[in-house]
Amino acid sequence: MVVNDVVSNILEMADADFAFEWDNSGLQVGDMSWEVSGVLICVDINMDVIMEAIQHGANLIISHHPFLFSPIKKVTEDNVKGQCIIKCIKEQIALFSAHTNMDVSPNGLNTYLASQFGLANIESLDDGHSQLMEFWGAFPTSATAVEAGAKLENLAFGVQSFGVSGSSSFLAGKLLKGKRKATERILASLATDYSIKLIEATKLGYGLGVVGDLDAAMGFEELASAAKGVFGCGRLRVSSGIGGKKLKRIAIVSGSGCDYIGAAASKGADCLITSDCKHKDFLQAADMGIALVCPSHFDSEKCFLPIVRQHLENSFQDNMIFESKAKDVEIVI
Ligand SMILES: [Zn+2]
Repeated sequence: MVVNDVVSNILEMADADFAFEWDNSGLQVGDMSWEVSGVLICVDINMDVIMEAIQHGANLIISHHPFLFSPIKKVTEDNVKGQCIIKCIKEQIALFSAHTNMDVSPNGLNTYLASQFGLANIESLDDGHSQLMEFWGAFPTSATAVEAGAKLENLAFGVQSFGVSGSSSFLAGKLLKGKRKATERILASLATDYSIKLIEATKLGYGLGVVGDLDAAMGFEELASAAKGVFGCGRLRVSSGIGGKKLKRIAIVSGSGCDYIGAAASKGADCLITSDCKHKDFLQAADMGIALVCPSHFDSEKCFLPIVRQHLENSFQDNMIFESKAKDVEIVI
């Protein structure tokens, strides 16, 4: 088993093409050909987590947050990132992250959290990733068109029409918005002329956040208590929305999701559960008449560990897969 085997397995549930443009998911340190001795799953990577991997004899760390996000200018022992990279190279430890592609996956964090709260009638809060696009390409030879068609066939809805006009061969079809980058790469390498444009919106599963209905409406205190159980925390920052109103329709965005307060309200949510809420966010939610429940960022995303472990255990030996014991650095006392 090499790094590529494990990574491919993760990407089956969290397609890399669905990662946001600004994200840096994927392999960050190491090589896809390295033999894997064990896998450690975590939210964030730091030297303590790398040491934890070494103790387990694991040489592939899968994190939710990318270890490398902002560009770095040097890899030296006089800074923390450099120390971690040097340690990983010396110990042959690979670092891989599945971030926004895991957030938007129908098998990802938000769907998992929705199930923990027992939500039914689930839909995406923002289904922009599920929007359909149309592509068209002109190729210099029919052989090139066939080659492009074979590659594009694997992308969502693949090729729907093929033809020859004059000296050019044409391909056209539909793809998901999240497949745009991969499609562009293929067309840019093989087509003499091409275009990709949004044609319609549809719901196909990939999207950020979820909204769904509780089995029975809850009072605010009851929902807050349920949230403490789901997130395994003793305290939460909250605002109760319209006083006394029972809560039935719940929106969830793991991580920083306050940009979705408006989307939650427009989807009829009585409450948004998300992290990193600021004072202005509590005010906005109150103005829109919805409650806000704010666990820590780490608590909202630590379910990444069991989600990935359970997925990997379907294909790999469970005694090679470990969940990090690293605790949240943000604590409320
Ligand atoms: Zn996060």
